[in-house]
Amino acid sequence: MAATFINLESGKPLSRVPCALCGESIMDGREIEHQDETLCKPCFEKKNYYSVIRKLL
Ligand SMILES: [Zn+2]
Repeated sequence: MAATFINLESGKPLSRVPCALCGESIMDGREIEHQDETLCKPCFEKKNYYSVIRKLL
């Protein structure tokens, strides 16, 4: 289920970047640049997880 985050503090500029994998909006500063892609944390961890599995196989 998708969660909706609302910033109640005013005055803080929020930049939202879409994740290259799932398209989810990533909140300010939480995006991870990985191999020229902007990923959210779960996708970044998923990618690393699968790359580790691939190395093991
Ligand atoms: Zn993602």
